[in-house]
Amino acid sequence: MVIFKKVIDIQSFISDLKARGEVISFIPTMGALHKGHIFLVENARKAGGITVASIFVNPTQFNDKEDFKHYPISVEADIDMLTEAGCDILFLPDVSEVYPNGTENMPTHNFGYLETILEGAHRPGHFKGVGQVVARLLDIVKPDRLYMGQKDYQQCMVIKDLLRQTNSTTQMVVSPTVREDDGLAMSSRNRRLNELQREVAGVIYQCLVSIVAKKGSDFAVVKKECEDILKAKGFDPEYIELADADTLQLNNSYTNGRQVALIAAKLGSIRLIDNMLIE
Ligand code: AMP
Repeated sequence: MVIFKKVIDIQSFISDLKARGEVISFIPTMGALHKGHIFLVENARKAGGITVASIFVNPTQFNDKEDFKHYPISVEADIDMLTEAGCDILFLPDVSEVYPNGTENMPTHNFGYLETILEGAHRPGHFKGVGQVVARLLDIVKPDRLYMGQKDYQQCMVIKDLLRQTNSTTQMVVSPTVREDDGLAMSSRNRRLNELQREVAGVIYQCLVSIVAKKGSDFAVVKKECEDILKAKGFDPEYIELADADTLQLNNSYTNGRQVALIAAKLGSIRLIDNMLIE
């Protein structure tokens, strides 16, 4: 695996590859890699061409300074995992490479409704930061395909909107969520859970399974049950919602169309999110 830290170097390497007709697949990450990230790399590899991953803990998407301060970092182990997975290129830039003129005057995108609900409502400015960094990384890597995880459902929708707004030719590929044995969605933040918290963390998944299984019943009742279960296990639930899977319009009840159930809850200071499609 070739590692680049400088924009100018990765850009010239990739433009040579593209000139030779190579297809570029890109997996942006914030590092502290786990099997969920590696699944995206494997999916990209299966599609053929060149696989490029990036590790960059983007400061502009953290609305919570403590979360940023404690975000896990394990670059050496990450490099080993990516090498083993057969990733071809890793982009590992400093903040000054990604934002050479600072972030203040960088244009941001407006994602409208998507910024006002769920993660957008609970993490003000988060999606502005996500849009900013992904737009910048896409501009550097210029991939043909962009691999992202369903685990961050709303983020996928925001980035789809970014691609639409910028008339991008990059095609987005969404991979299903990789889970631990108890159903907990793999996440870099899981490393911060203590033993007791880790033991109960799978309850979010159980709640999602029950929301899916109870399709057709009164969602208000199901939601209250999930809220009570989460609270009893020591969670502080932020939202338990049903939404249209294509537009993310929130629904008060089950519908006949494709829906997605989404949960965000805190265990101590660690905030976990997950979702499940209802088809
Ligand atoms: P992050 O490093 O958390 O910014 O995640 C980088 C990419 O990996 C995003 O597209 C995430 O949605 C995806 N991802 C994170 N966790 C998982 C998971 N458990 N399964 C599949 N994809 C994931």
